[in-house]
Amino acid sequence: MKLADVKAATIATHAGSDPQAQHGAVNTPVYRASTILFPTLDALEHAAVTPLEGVRYGRNGTPTTFAFEQAVAAMEGGHGAVSLPSGAAAVNVALLSLGARPGDHILVADNVYVPTRNFCDRALAASGIETSYFDPRIGAGISALIRPTTRAIVFESPGSITFEMCDVPAFVAAAKARGVTTIMDNTWATPVFFRPLDHGVDISVMAATKYVVGHSDAMLGVISCRDEARWEAVKRAAMLYGYCAGPDEVYLGLRGLRTMPVRLERHFQTGVQLANWLRTQREVTRVLHPALPDDPGHALWKRDFTGASGLFGIVLAPVSRAALAAFVDGLGLFGMGWSWGGFESLIVPYLRPPPRSAVAWTEPGFLVRIHAGLEDADDLRRDLEAGFERLRKAA
Ligand SMILES: *Cc1c(COP(=O)(O)O)cnc(C)c1O
Repeated sequence: MKLADVKAATIATHAGSDPQAQHGAVNTPVYRASTILFPTLDALEHAAVTPLEGVRYGRNGTPTTFAFEQAVAAMEGGHGAVSLPSGAAAVNVALLSLGARPGDHILVADNVYVPTRNFCDRALAASGIETSYFDPRIGAGISALIRPTTRAIVFESPGSITFEMCDVPAFVAAAKARGVTTIMDNTWATPVFFRPLDHGVDISVMAATKYVVGHSDAMLGVISCRDEARWEAVKRAAMLYGYCAGPDEVYLGLRGLRTMPVRLERHFQTGVQLANWLRTQREVTRVLHPALPDDPGHALWKRDFTGASGLFGIVLAPVSRAALAAFVDGLGLFGMGWSWGGFESLIVPYLRPPPRSAVAWTEPGFLVRIHAGLEDADDLRRDLEAGFERLRKAA
């Protein structure tokens, strides 16, 4: 059976696996290698003239790296994947692979991951590459923002702090008409719930640190490309900048990927359950979750996605910082910390509004981001319920 004909759960279970190449061991082991030895001058010369192929030097990848990359590429339905030492490195290498020059321009959705904004505003700007930010809900209107110098449209759907959805097919159509590359950060949905490359996106990036690794114990990024030329450009950029994902990290990434569809199904269910309960709480003015029918992004989510991960947001009615502290400080199951995608539930209150250039964020209350973990959903609800009681007393 070909992996192209099967569903995500089956791909996740089998892709990148070659037990007979590993003495029958089910999992490709952690290869620790810098030096790779060649038996003959011919073999050495062959490796020298094919720098993108095979095992030739530790930094270019080992069998562990290639197993992980093959599995991710199969999940994303791409020509190939390239692993990086973090999600941020993956976003940045995807941008660097464009080979943009001074005077070039990129379009970036206003709600992207803040370090992505920083890379554009600092590193790319210092190289003379201009970034302009657009309203993530602009849809086909993106066309009017494309300049002759525009090299890429960069977006996340939904954004991982404020959860606006993008119209991906509209972006792709506008970009294709003008020869512009599309880059999507797909960390939120993962290919289990949305396959950007199937929708015509050129490059799909994931912070594998989140759901792929899934256990909050490794940093890893991965870029998947729709065609060979883009994969080559990404691989060359990763090599040029000297990036190399660690052997334990790619092993943990592949190990996590095996169970990702099962975990995500549970994150999805619990997230929706909590979101639906939260919208009944009087301290909550908005729930930012595209799977809820009254969310502004719901129609796009329903049209294009097959599920939702466990990450969503709420906006609280205006309360004091002390009341917010009373809510979060006493939570027993929700840890407070950046990141998400692990098995455990997390909560992050934002004390300042998210940075915006195109459309101001005008909600007056605190924005709070929630990651629904794999705990029992009722236990999680009860933890939040006790938090609201503390908040009320402190308010
Ligand atoms: C976390 C995150 C990243 C960066 O990943 P790291 O592995 O932490 O560097 C990129 N994009 C999104 C949407 C993220 O949530």
